[in-house]
Amino acid sequence: MTEMSGGPALPQERRVVTSVPGPKSQELMARKQAAVADGIGTVMPVFAKRAGGGVLEDVDGNSFIDFGSGIAVTGVGNSAEAVVRRASAQLAQFTHTCVMVTPYEPYVEVCEELARLTPGDHAKKSALFNSGAEAVENAVKVARSYTKRQAVVVFDHGYHGRTNLTMALTSKNMPYKHSFGPFAPEVYRVPVAYPFRWLTGPDNCAEEAAAQAIDQINKQVGAENVAAILIEPLLGEGGFIEPAKGFLPRLAQFAKENGIVFVADEIQSGFCRTGQWFACEDEGIVPDLITTAKGIAGGMPLAAVTGRAEIMDAPHVGGLGGTYGGNPVACAAALGSIETMREMDLPARAKRIEEIMKPRLRKLAEQYDVIGDVRGRGAMLAIELVKPGGKEPDPQVTAALAKACHENGLLVLTTGTYGNVMRFLPPMVIGEDLLDEGLDVLEGALADL
Ligand SMILES: *Cc1c(COP(=O)(O)O)cnc(C)c1O
Repeated sequence: MTEMSGGPALPQERRVVTSVPGPKSQELMARKQAAVADGIGTVMPVFAKRAGGGVLEDVDGNSFIDFGSGIAVTGVGNSAEAVVRRASAQLAQFTHTCVMVTPYEPYVEVCEELARLTPGDHAKKSALFNSGAEAVENAVKVARSYTKRQAVVVFDHGYHGRTNLTMALTSKNMPYKHSFGPFAPEVYRVPVAYPFRWLTGPDNCAEEAAAQAIDQINKQVGAENVAAILIEPLLGEGGFIEPAKGFLPRLAQFAKENGIVFVADEIQSGFCRTGQWFACEDEGIVPDLITTAKGIAGGMPLAAVTGRAEIMDAPHVGGLGGTYGGNPVACAAALGSIETMREMDLPARAKRIEEIMKPRLRKLAEQYDVIGDVRGRGAMLAIELVKPGGKEPDPQVTAALAKACHENGLLVLTTGTYGNVMRFLPPMVIGEDLLDEGLDVLEGALADL
């Protein structure tokens, strides 16, 4: 299965043999501080040496249970066998021609796979890029070209990247936007159905939020001026927010009625993460365009915009592209990654991860009143941490909890508009024993707080 991951016989175990960070990591961190710009932050201050399956080993010999997957990227595990095999073969054949100079088969094959795997049985086409932000930028270009309109509607707590346009599309100032303006115009933000924090409670959240969003679009922008409505079907950096059921279909329907391109940003939620190939399948949504990246290529940089052929074909020849977009080695890695997802039935594995983790997280929430909410789907789960007795976000306790987990051999990430969400994104190939052990570490850290 994942034997080759991370090199020969990488033991699938948690092992803490030094303080965290250990001496070698501390030495490297001093070099990082001297040579790398401070703007590049660090979640867990250890340096990686090998990774695969469900673990990451550092330069001091510590082995961490991986509940992060490099931010939802290595769902098939690090250096997954098929990814290494296919990318290595391609690496030896040729590394780059530029698809706009002389095309190659792996690029076309990835686009064919995307047409098969994404929701809807209409004719689809794709274009490939290097990063998620670049995919989102291009989805906006395509939607504007197709509709001949300019406005883009995005949502509270949305995250779409760090380039200029995608900063404008992103809702959170610190750290993503602060001091980096001015931002691109014609971006309009409307409410999202966030059940845990909806003022009138979760029951009418979907209808009320959709009504507010649509009213704002009509009154403040004018539906006839909107090129695209862009949303993450399960919001990632905003705090693993699952829009209340009914909200997404209502917005998709509004888009359809008004000739607006409905774009699902599945960069974090896509590729089996939520127990489906794509998160929007849970409510039967068929987006006009879908952006993918993170989980697509087992860790190699690749991103895509996929959608209705007539929309994707709107930009003139030469209007889309880039020197490296759809690099052949990254495409081969994506084909290896997709092969692994099919063979191991990773959507089913993601569902199994939810089955194991969610009941335990819910039990912890009953025991510890700092956990205000447990949510997410598949292998994309989170707890929201609050001041006991209310809903006031507690980013300090969240950071302390993450640090305690790190020190005890569990790699976890935090997220959320208020910095108070701990998210769990294990590789879908992780062993069930490691999942349980990781939750034991979390439980111990909660007890110690
Ligand atoms: C990570 C992310 C992006 C940006 O992707 P990059 O590859 O970091 O540019 C965009 N949208 C969502 C939903 C993401 O999670």
